[in-house]
Amino acid sequence: MIHEHRVLNPATEELVATVPATTADEVATAVTRAAAAQRTWAALAPADRARLLRRFAVLVDEHAERLARLEVTEAGHTLGNARWEAANVRDLLDYAAGGVERLTGRQIPVPGGIDVTFLEPLGVVGVIAPWNFPMPIAAWGAAPALAAGNAVLLKPAETTPLTALRLARLALDAGLPEHLFQVLPGAGDVAGNALVEHPGVAKIVFTGSTRVGKQIMARCAQRVKRLTLELGGKSPNIVFADADIEAAAAAAPMSFLDNAGQDCCARTRILVQRSVYDRFLEHLVPAVASVAVGDPSDEKTQMGPLISRAQLERVRTLVPQDADGIRGSAPGGPGFWFPPTVLTGIAPDAPVATEEVFGPVAVVLPFEDEDDAVRLANATEYGLAGSIWTRDVGRALRVSRAVRAGNLSVNSHSAVRYWTPFGGYRQSGLGRELGPDALAAFTETKNVFIGTEA
Ligand code: NAD
Repeated sequence: MIHEHRVLNPATEELVATVPATTADEVATAVTRAAAAQRTWAALAPADRARLLRRFAVLVDEHAERLARLEVTEAGHTLGNARWEAANVRDLLDYAAGGVERLTGRQIPVPGGIDVTFLEPLGVVGVIAPWNFPMPIAAWGAAPALAAGNAVLLKPAETTPLTALRLARLALDAGLPEHLFQVLPGAGDVAGNALVEHPGVAKIVFTGSTRVGKQIMARCAQRVKRLTLELGGKSPNIVFADADIEAAAAAAPMSFLDNAGQDCCARTRILVQRSVYDRFLEHLVPAVASVAVGDPSDEKTQMGPLISRAQLERVRTLVPQDADGIRGSAPGGPGFWFPPTVLTGIAPDAPVATEEVFGPVAVVLPFEDEDDAVRLANATEYGLAGSIWTRDVGRALRVSRAVRAGNLSVNSHSAVRYWTPFGGYRQSGLGRELGPDALAAFTETKNVFIGTEA
């Protein structure tokens, strides 16, 4: 069994920290303590819970730069992205805090009495997070779960536990009850699995690979455990001939190079109408070349390294060396670097065009007309995100409705917003996070009828 995890700086391969790995027994103890803390938390007046969450948000804000620098060091994120991520945690805590007093049930007309519903907390919620956005994804689960009156046990990814551990300390400093929000670093198949199997954990929020998500879903089924899944993607970026081609080409690189492509929403299938295919590529070449790849702690850097050697090997395996296309540059020497890569002349059913690469790699595929574009866009088992570039508003809406994915943007590669819903169709996931209904996903609805005739 692994007793500790080594955290490496992905840009330099230097050792940043070693973190003890939580055992299954320690997870069980954490569940017992969290259950007690949850009862205290749920018994507080809503305004008091909201106030404590806002104080947590203030502390995150005060520590934002330190959290961001930690994310740069352990995850190789660019400083600009890492600052956005720390701010996202702060904003999410504030937004969730605003929902505490608004988490209301209903009164439903019935004969012979009154009928009311209560939205009750689930109890202890397990959040299992990946390494690609360690801070935001931890908060997407934890903030609304806490606001709805639950305790949270967070299992960060093996490679990126440090920001999560820092957040747990800030929660304590803010005055949240001890053991209400605990971080349990460790191996997925030990600490993560213990959360999934433990009968005292009422819900699992899992973000990660579709492969592991399916295993967790099967285990949750044994206990009819509540489950949210945010999984992989192979999202299309559809460029119609009537679009502003220069703008579409200028925006395309960062839609799949942000976070070195380790983004479940990365627009990695660029579908271009055949009549503008050559013109689009002409503009894409300089746009890819202009992306600044290098030291993630440099403010000007737009793309950093991959998270690990294993991820680098996976990307190398999926990208055919002899394929035509556009290749940017990346630093040599230590670090897990892969250059920005756009492949052309690839068959639509080739692995690099169908599997999630999770690296800075996209394919460009031509299409004939609107029907063909929708057919290609939907020719995937995933359905997370997508973009549509066109000046025709009717087409923008038709195609938005026809593409089977949870998060679409028109003439933009809009980032995820904490106040709008996020989640996947098909094998990209189950359930939704963020947005106005985020707290409700961490409650059970109880219906109570009170007779007035007796
Ligand atoms: P992963 O599935 O390997 O691991 C994710 C988390 O699950 C980690 O904390 C890991 O320790 C844990 N885990 C692994 N095996 C487990 C098990 N048997 N039981 C319980 N927990 C277990 O994924 P990853 O490689 O860390 O992340 C990359 C993947 O995440 C990509 O496929 C990406 O698309 C996906 N992702 C999806 C979203 C989304 O919102 N849809 C967001 C980010 C990442």
